[in-house]
Amino acid sequence: MNEHDPDITGHGAEDPLRQLYQEVILDHYRKPRNKGVVDESTHTLTLNNPLCGDVIELLLTVRDGKIIDAGFEGHGCSISQASASMMTERLKGRSITEALTLDATFTRMLHGDADAAADEVLGDLRALAGVAKFPVRVKCALLAWNCLEELVGPDS
Ligand code: ZN
Repeated sequence: MNEHDPDITGHGAEDPLRQLYQEVILDHYRKPRNKGVVDESTHTLTLNNPLCGDVIELLLTVRDGKIIDAGFEGHGCSISQASASMMTERLKGRSITEALTLDATFTRMLHGDADAAADEVLGDLRALAGVAKFPVRVKCALLAWNCLEELVGPDS
């Protein structure tokens, strides 16, 4: 983990669920899913977060309003990279509409919405709920999602 990464779960040794979430984030950081080239990508965009030095390039293959494949390239802190890894896992096979709903739910969770944090549609992404307590790191967690919004969102 990056030395300037805070322990986003706090001193939660007494809380097994928080420990588990920390493990999920580190697992995606160390073994990112969907990192690399995407066959026949139709949408690509690179964004960076200068506050932290994070860079994410999102690659999507979209056909008939559906995300057939998703991947990413980039580097940065564990939060930014784990978020991109988990996001691409959740996007594959979803319609654009479903992807944007996922984006909206994830964004609400990062702004501290407990209902959003309990939504099972987020899967592993719920491990990032603790980031809501660190406003500077919210930008790290949302970087890949900002790429998604710019590529397939209503203003794209
Ligand atoms: Zn970061």
